[in-house]
Amino acid sequence: MKIYKFGGASVKNAERIRHLGDIVSQTEGPLVVVVSAMGKTTNNLEEFTRMLYPDATYEDMDFDRLYDQVVSTGELQSSRIVSAYLNHAGIANQWMDATAVLRTDSHFREAQVDVETSLRLLTAFIQAHPARVYVTQGFIGGTADGMRTTLGREGSDYSAALFGNMLDAESVTLWKDVDGVYNADPRKVKDARLLRRLTYAEAEALAEQGAQIVHRKTFAPLQQKRIPLYVRPFLHPEQEGTVIE
Ligand code: ADP
Ligand code: ASP
Ligand code: MG
Repeated sequence: MKIYKFGGASVKNAERIRHLGDIVSQTEGPLVVVVSAMGKTTNNLEEFTRMLYPDATYEDMDFDRLYDQVVSTGELQSSRIVSAYLNHAGIANQWMDATAVLRTDSHFREAQVDVETSLRLLTAFIQAHPARVYVTQGFIGGTADGMRTTLGREGSDYSAALFGNMLDAESVTLWKDVDGVYNADPRKVKDARLLRRLTYAEAEALAEQGAQIVHRKTFAPLQQKRIPLYVRPFLHPEQEGTVIE
């Protein structure tokens, strides 16, 4: 089993979703495709929620609960579109609702995942719906009483790592709009250098220092099972990118 995660930039329009289909069709064996919301959808939904609730203060639990119900629709929508497109393109797949298999507590907007329960739910879903390719959402989960939750902004890298951990994946690949992990943000630093190989600890240190390329919670679930993490260029799938292991 491999895990492929496609971020917002990789599903932002029809052309990119077709390109995602090309990458998936060139991959053999079982695969879980984890997608983010299209483009800047999450920002827009966040703004929309604030307009619904203009008086919300920080730590307002009603606001946080509403936020998760609204903002999670971004990933639900993009994953439905990707799944439908792949089926249309001849890549049979099973859509999977992460809010039903990734069990969290009800700390809305920063929910904590219960890995043991999630593993049970995920295994049962896969047994009931056998498929080579599953399409699911990053960033979102659900509580025992059926409320949708989110795992913190940019959390879909972390979701991909959790799926990798629970499924004992052979690898997790984050398809991004850069050639891999650099020693500094290549959009801001002209002579930033591409790093071909990093240890989990080195990558985690970069993330903790603020490198906004891989969510900081991504590394622990992979390191625990010694699963390599690839960060690869979505637009140049022939390139190797960076491996973190
Ligand atoms: P995703 O589409 O998977 O959510 P992100 O937008 O979160 O991807 O991350 C990719 C962006 O991270 C790049 O566009 C790049 O500008 C930025 N970035 C910040 N620091 C780095 C770094 N050290 N190496 C590569 N990219 C970086
Ligand atoms: N869509 C969510 C966000 O923009 C999660 C993610 O893309 O990682 O924060
Ligand atoms: Mg991101």
